[in-house]
Amino acid sequence: MQKRQNPASPPVPGGPARRVCIITFGCQMNEADSEAIAAAFRRRGYTVTDELKKADAVVVNTCTVRQRAEDKAISQIGRLRVWKEKHPEGKIFVVGCAAQKLGEKYLKHRFPFVDEVVGAKAIEQFEDALITQLGPTPETETAHQNLFRSPQTAYTTIMRGCSLKCSYCIVPAVRGPAVFLSPAAVLADAAAKLKAGAKEIVLLGQTVNSYKHGKTTFSELLKQVLALPGLQRLRFMSPHPLYFDAEFTAVLAREKKLARYMHLPVQSGSDRILKAMRRGYTRGEYLALLARLRAAAPDLAVSTDFIVGYPGETEEDFRDTLALVAEGGFTLAYCFKYSPRTDRPEMAATISGAVMEGRLEKLLAAVKNNSRVILNKRIGKIEEVLFETATYGRTSGNFALRVAEGGTPGKMAEVLVAGAEKNTLNGKVL
Ligand code: SAM
Ligand code: SF4
Repeated sequence: MQKRQNPASPPVPGGPARRVCIITFGCQMNEADSEAIAAAFRRRGYTVTDELKKADAVVVNTCTVRQRAEDKAISQIGRLRVWKEKHPEGKIFVVGCAAQKLGEKYLKHRFPFVDEVVGAKAIEQFEDALITQLGPTPETETAHQNLFRSPQTAYTTIMRGCSLKCSYCIVPAVRGPAVFLSPAAVLADAAAKLKAGAKEIVLLGQTVNSYKHGKTTFSELLKQVLALPGLQRLRFMSPHPLYFDAEFTAVLAREKKLARYMHLPVQSGSDRILKAMRRGYTRGEYLALLARLRAAAPDLAVSTDFIVGYPGETEEDFRDTLALVAEGGFTLAYCFKYSPRTDRPEMAATISGAVMEGRLEKLLAAVKNNSRVILNKRIGKIEEVLFETATYGRTSGNFALRVAEGGTPGKMAEVLVAGAEKNTLNGKVL
């Protein structure tokens, strides 16, 4: 799991020169939480820095989805011992999914220099931890700041937690069952971010398309967000194959501001493994869903996640996964080696490290090969590009695209695609 530090934020005029360094591991949910944490600090006059040595407070936002992610977060916390010796007045906050799993007692015992532990389930009470450590401070309003993406793109969380029970997954245990934010809260958040300059909103949730609040369905929520002034493009992640209905495909077909892209994790191409994973669909059902989505949006780009080496995965199961790469027409796939997240004996890894590594390599090669084929198919097409700089932007299908000149940051333009190199398209603004 990658570690991301945050770009520095502009100083608050007249505010004291205090700085917070936020180190984030894991998924977009953690990124969105880190932005909320940054906002809480900024309301107290702090600025965000990516330089640990200049920081007066440090937040480590942890991940535990795989053991490696947890290990990385733990070593990061360990390294803060030296920082605390040099900054005895400085405050250290450990938050997020590994904090939830390992618990305050364990973390404070192992790392006595940590001041506060706030687990993922209690992340909305982060403010209380701030009050404990820094005291109540008169709050100042600050504009939203994107820490992770281009200034054009902003995350809006629409649900927390997850109520599914995929056999391999620790997320429901550390983030709790699904809780949906009210449409009013979602719309207020997205509208504030658009007002602050965002052009593209990404709605976030672990099974984002299962959204239901009172009578408001996911499709209804999409329509309401699509109507917000200033919005140029709407994305969402991660949807689950179980929750797409005819109402959604109708919205997808009609609403061109809804990105022609989705990240739709499949996890395996083998029915036997999908069943053991408790994913709730078969390979055939997943492919039929892709066909329905592509009938509504023929240029739809789809990426996915795969897990290799799930307990009991045979060569045949793995071949089914390998074959799905081309059959699903995925533009991209994130491939993970199975990592046991529970002590239950039936969930222990049964595939040797060497076999797992071999399968991962084969899968990555197939994905790379397939991505090239799919990228090349875009040559000669006209793409709607939302520019981040004069020469760089993203297509509706989420492909990176470069032009020599002619893009306007924050504006959409049509580009004729002339070529493709590595993962990036290139072309000419029309
Ligand atoms: N909610 C999303 C879904 O179900 O489609 C996925 C969320 S999970 C945080 C991100 C990805 O991590 C999953 O799609 C899966 O591929 C991977 N993952 C989760 N648990 C894992 C495990 N125990 N070992 C390996 N990969 C895992
Ligand atoms: Fe985990 Fe996603 Fe399954 Fe929920 S839907 S249990 S987050 S893999």
